[in-house]
Amino acid sequence: VLIVLLGPPGAGKGTQSQLLAQSLGVPKVATGDIFREAIARETPLGVQAKPYLDRGELVPGPITTEMVKSRLQREDCRKGAILDGYPRTVEQARQFDAVLRDIHRGLSKVINIDVPDDELLRRLSGRWTCRKCQSTFHEIFKPSKNVGACDRCGGTLYQRPDDSIEVAQTRLRVYRTRTEPVIAYYQEQGVLVHVDGQQTPDSVLSDILSRVQVVAPS
Ligand code: ADP
Ligand code: AMP
Repeated sequence: VLIVLLGPPGAGKGTQSQLLAQSLGVPKVATGDIFREAIARETPLGVQAKPYLDRGELVPGPITTEMVKSRLQREDCRKGAILDGYPRTVEQARQFDAVLRDIHRGLSKVINIDVPDDELLRRLSGRWTCRKCQSTFHEIFKPSKNVGACDRCGGTLYQRPDDSIEVAQTRLRVYRTRTEPVIAYYQEQGVLVHVDGQQTPDSVLSDILSRVQVVAPS
């Protein structure tokens, strides 16, 4: 099973990819998480990516695709993966098609999670992210049981600097101009499914699961 989650920042991709990873038994691969980890470790990739994440712009060039390709070739992805935050441009979607041919894989489904802009800004401005496992919480919609600590791993929660209102608005603009065209790209391939993201996380999950019941394993 190989599922791509599309949707604007704050739509719930991270939340759903974690739930899907648990229910389908495959890892979540989130390019934003990989970049943030590289930045925290100050690796060459992190140093290169940091100015783009700080500004809310996309990291340019082929590095994101290369990163995804090598991640998907790791042993834990042999049964598939849930992709969160990639592809984010039509160019990346084309590169990804080439990668999939190369590694003899196919896409099961592409899920587009829709949420209106005013709700997205409310979600991003109240989001708290775990430094250790990248789980997300929301101060009103999904508070953690202990203030400042992750329910899943006990890690420390922080507010992503790019969730500030100014950078969040840039990210929404970048999404509309660069990522929204990816929806039509996958619509033409016949693999796209739309899901209403303005429901409880559990309802969004069951909508997704009811649409990804792909062919039984052989
Ligand atoms: P994305 O990965 O698409 O940027 P997240 O999964 O991190 O989005 O969710 C953004 C914020 O909205 C988080 O604070 C999260 O707790 C909250 N959230 C996620 N799904 C829902 C939902 N269905 N209803 C309300 N809040 C949600
Ligand atoms: P996210 O965690 O998905 O909100 O992504 C955070 C940031 O990481 C984005 O604003 C970009 O700077 C960068 N990023 C994540 N995924 C990609 C991608 N597929 N292509 C380019 N940049 C990306």
